[in-house]
Amino acid sequence: MTTARILSQARQEKRTVLTEIEAKEILGEAGIDCTPTVLASAREQAVAISEKLGYPVVLKVSSVDISHKSDAGGVKVNLENRAAVERAFDEIIASCRAYAPEAVIEGVSVQPMARAGTEIIMGMIKDASFGPVVMFGLGGVLVEVLKDVSFRIVPIDQRDAIEMTEEIQGKKLLAGYRGKDPADIPRLQEMLVKLSDFVNANPEIEEIDMNPVFAYKDGALVVDARIILSA
Ligand code: ADP
Ligand code: MG
Repeated sequence: MTTARILSQARQEKRTVLTEIEAKEILGEAGIDCTPTVLASAREQAVAISEKLGYPVVLKVSSVDISHKSDAGGVKVNLENRAAVERAFDEIIASCRAYAPEAVIEGVSVQPMARAGTEIIMGMIKDASFGPVVMFGLGGVLVEVLKDVSFRIVPIDQRDAIEMTEEIQGKKLLAGYRGKDPADIPRLQEMLVKLSDFVNANPEIEEIDMNPVFAYKDGALVVDARIILSA
């Protein structure tokens, strides 16, 4: 229901980009765990939401015109109290206005600070010949350079998902290293199948980017998500 409402609203507004909040609501309905993320259109509202969610929180610019929020100075993490939230709100708005004067900024989103985990990326792109393909890889700086990712054509089943997590170069990092917790690999595989099922059921979705997903020894959480609709 949520998904249908968000998609039809975006269509009505003639936009193909969904906000992080919308993307996470849709993925949540598809059974993929995301950090709860709430829009604040004013500073005091950001404080009220933060107190409700519990500190520490993360504030991010919410604008369909700003896709790389960090580049715009639009992300402030680990905010521990009211004063930090107030300051972050003002700084995000000022920085993003300067970075993209034409951007329509609907406000600032507030979400709990997720504890650190193994950084994963997951997504979907449409290939010109194969159609929708799901993607899995390790996140983080090193992997962004190495482009260590695996792809499968949608729809995938559990066996495909197992292959995807096993064929990346850095798969040892998923198993835990130097005292780091192992990632919940079965949960990651389950998320890939849910992503594929969701994509298969929603052909009007052009692209999905979950970057990063934090994997823990028990579960995994999407902390940033982007969805683009076909034009
Ligand atoms: P961008 O649009 O720049 O990709 P992100 O939402 O990915 O913005 O935020 C940038 C970085 O901030 C992430 O890669 C992650 O390291 C950190 N981050 C974002 N949201 C959270 C969160 N809820 N908890 C902890 N860290 C977060
Ligand atoms: Mg991101």
